[in-house]
Amino acid sequence: MNQSIVVTGMVLSVTPIGEYDKRVVLLTKERGKLSAFAKGARKPQSPLGGAVSPFCFGEFTLYEGRTSYNIIQVSISNYFQELRTDMEAAYYGFYFMEFAEYYTRESNDETQMLKLLYQTLRALAKKSIPNALIRCIFELKAIYINGEGPQVFQCVKCADTTRPVVFSAKEGGIVCSACKQEVFDEMEIETSALYAMQYIAGSTIEKLYTFTVSDSVLQNLKKILARYISLYIDKQFKSLEILEICVK
Ligand SMILES: [Zn+2]
Repeated sequence: MNQSIVVTGMVLSVTPIGEYDKRVVLLTKERGKLSAFAKGARKPQSPLGGAVSPFCFGEFTLYEGRTSYNIIQVSISNYFQELRTDMEAAYYGFYFMEFAEYYTRESNDETQMLKLLYQTLRALAKKSIPNALIRCIFELKAIYINGEGPQVFQCVKCADTTRPVVFSAKEGGIVCSACKQEVFDEMEIETSALYAMQYIAGSTIEKLYTFTVSDSVLQNLKKILARYISLYIDKQFKSLEILEICVK
C-alpha cells in the first residue's frame, strides 16, 4: 500500500520539471539520498515554493508512490538565509551540495554526511573562519566519512611516527624521510598542515570548524587536497568551476 513518511534532511539540488513542478534531491537521516517530486512548487502561491530550495533543512512529509516520492508537506527549521545574500558563501555552498550528492547513495546511512553538511553551512553563515579553509575541512572530512581518507598519523610504508615526512597522494598518506626515495609524487607538507589534517581526521563533526591556520598553511592544504581529490574522485564538479571563476 502507498503511504506517507516523514524524513529529516536537507535539499541538495532542485531541477525544474515541466511548467510548474520541481524534482528535488534530498539527503535524509532515514533513507540516505533520495529524489522526490514537488508538484506545483513553481506556482507563485505554492506552500512548497520557498521550502524546496537548496540548503533548506527540516522535515519533509513524502508520499511514497510505486516508483517515486512526492513531497506533500514541508517544515523547514533552517533556511540558511545568510547564504542567499552572500554570493561567495552561496557558491561554496552549492559546491558542498554537489560534492555530497555525488558522494552519497540511496537507502544508505548518510547521517554523518548530513551532519557534516549542516555544520559546514553553519560555518559559512557565521564567517568565523575563511571560506577557503572551510572548503579544505569539508572536503577532507567528507573523504574520511567515506572511508577513503589519507593516512596522516604514520608513514604508509613503515608505520614510523618520528621522522620528518612528505605527502604522497598515490601512496595515500604521509611517507617518512627513510622511505621517501620509494615514492615519485612527493609533496612538501608543513608541520602545521599535517597537524590540521590530523585534527580533521580525528575531530567530531561539531568541533571541526574551530581552528584557523596561516595563509601559507592554507595554501599547502589546498594543494595537497587538490592533488588527492584529482586522484581519488573521478568527477568534474560543475559548481566548482563556477566557484573558481567567481572567487579568487
Ligand atoms: Zn617510512
